[in-house]
Amino acid sequence: MDCSEAVEDYCDAWAVGCERIPKNVPSFTDNLDRYFIILEVEKTIPKIHNIDKEDHQGEFVEVESTNSLTFWVSCPRSDKDNLSKEMISSMLTSAGVPLHKQEYMVDKISSQADQIANAECNKGSKILPMFVFISIVACLCMSGETNDDYHDGKGD
Ligand SMILES: [Zn+2]
Repeated sequence: MDCSEAVEDYCDAWAVGCERIPKNVPSFTDNLDRYFIILEVEKTIPKIHNIDKEDHQGEFVEVESTNSLTFWVSCPRSDKDNLSKEMISSMLTSAGVPLHKQEYMVDKISSQADQIANAECNKGSKILPMFVFISIVACLCMSGETNDDYHDGKGD
């Protein structure tokens, strides 16, 4: 799939319960509040050869891999930009999300992080757990990583 082609990438971020915080919280030398971020990135592959089969109408993509990473990031508890866009972008990059897909994801994660930092119910919390889920359609700049049998319009 060409990188410039419009695809249905998906990104959402939300607060999760404290049961998601690991038992062995790292010890930090400062006294700042922190996000605990679980970032899950699902990579999907288009199944173009199935589109013309009526009984497979729903199977346009298949999940090729899922990558799950966690991050601890300090939270300044400001009105805005609690989680810097540079930080979000570097998290996404380390999870394998190409730069050209990141723009709207960074905005979405950033605004969700601000909401969590300013939520009334989180006022006394030192740790703010957040889950980020991303599903991306593999494109050309991602090929060569783990997938070797992906072809656009194979068997035409
Ligand atoms: Zn690409």
